[in-house]
Amino acid sequence: MTRIPTVTGDIDVEQLGTTLMHEHVFVRTPELQEAFPGFMGFDEEVAITGAREKLTALKASGIDTIVDMTAPGLGRNIDLIARAQEGTGLQIIVVTGYYTYTDLPFPMKYNGPGKLFNNDPSDSFLVDLFVRDIEEGIEGTDIRAGVVKCCTDEPGLTEDIERLIRAVGRTHLRTDVPIMTHSHAGSKRGLDQQRILREEGVDLSRVLIGHSNETGDVEYLTELLDAGSYLGFDRCGLKIAFPLEDQTEALTELCRRGYAGQIVLSHDRHCTSDWFAEEGVVAALPEWNYQYIQGSLLPALRENGVTDDQIEQMMVTNPRRFFAARKDAPAPPPARATETPA
Ligand SMILES: [Zn+2]
Repeated sequence: MTRIPTVTGDIDVEQLGTTLMHEHVFVRTPELQEAFPGFMGFDEEVAITGAREKLTALKASGIDTIVDMTAPGLGRNIDLIARAQEGTGLQIIVVTGYYTYTDLPFPMKYNGPGKLFNNDPSDSFLVDLFVRDIEEGIEGTDIRAGVVKCCTDEPGLTEDIERLIRAVGRTHLRTDVPIMTHSHAGSKRGLDQQRILREEGVDLSRVLIGHSNETGDVEYLTELLDAGSYLGFDRCGLKIAFPLEDQTEALTELCRRGYAGQIVLSHDRHCTSDWFAEEGVVAALPEWNYQYIQGSLLPALRENGVTDDQIEQMMVTNPRRFFAARKDAPAPPPARATETPA
C-alpha cells in the first residue's frame, strides 16, 4: 500500500479519508514579517491558536485530511504548520515547488534571459531543491512534501514560469510525487500546463489542474479531463472570478457527463494571512469558509441530481486514487552517518 507523507508522519493511502485537496493554513510574506514584525496584524502565537480552532472544527465536521498548498513563495513555514496541526486530529499533506503569482517573476535574478550565471539549461538545481523537500525533509525537519506545485495565471507562460513548470515535471519524474497546479481557468491556462508537462514526459493522469471551478466553459474543462488529468474544483465558496451558482451548474454538468471520477473539491481558504484583513474578507466573501462545501455546495449538488456516490468519489475516492498512483514514498533517510576518520 502506498505510504503518504503528512506533517505528523507517513500514513497509508487508505487512511486519507475525506480530503480537501487545496487549502492553506497560513499565507504570509516572510520578507515583510522580518522587516516589519507583525505586519498586517500577523502574530504567530495568535495565528497558531486561531488555526488550531479552525482545523479542529474542520476535523469535527468530518474532514480527515487537507492538502496545504502553501508552497515557497506563499510564505511556507513548516514549524508554524506543524504547531498549528498539534491536537487537531487533522492529517495535513504539505507541498514543494514554487508559487509565482500574476506579475511576479521567478526570483532567480541572474537567471533571466540569457541565463547569465546559470549554464545548466535543464535547471537541475531547481529540481534538486524540490527533490530534497520530497525525499529528505523541509527546512531541516523530517517532514516531507507529498505534492509538487506550479502556477500559471492570466499572464501565461513567461520564460520563468515555463522553466518552473518543466522543473516541476522533472521533479515528478524523479520522485513520482503527483503534480498539482494553480491555474487561471478564464484564460484556459490549464492547457498550457498540460502541454508543457506532456512535453516533459509526464503522464497527465498524475496532474491535478487547480482552480478549474472559476469558469463555465465546460468544453475547456472536458478537454483537460479527456487528456487524463484531475480537476480541482478547489475554490469553492470563492466568487471573485465567477458566480457561485454558475460554478455549481458547471460541476453538475460535468457530473452529468460522467466526470465525477476525476474531480476533487476544496476551498483554497486560509486560516490566517498577512495578505488580507480577515474582517474584510468575511464581509466581502461571506460564503468563503471551511463550511461551504458541506453546508452549501453538497446540498445544492444533491438537489441538482448529483448522487451520493459521485460526492463520495470527489471527496474520498479520487484523492485516494490520485495519491495511490505513487510508487511507495521513499523511507525517511537514515540518521546521517558520522564521518569516519580517515
Ligand atoms: Zn491556493
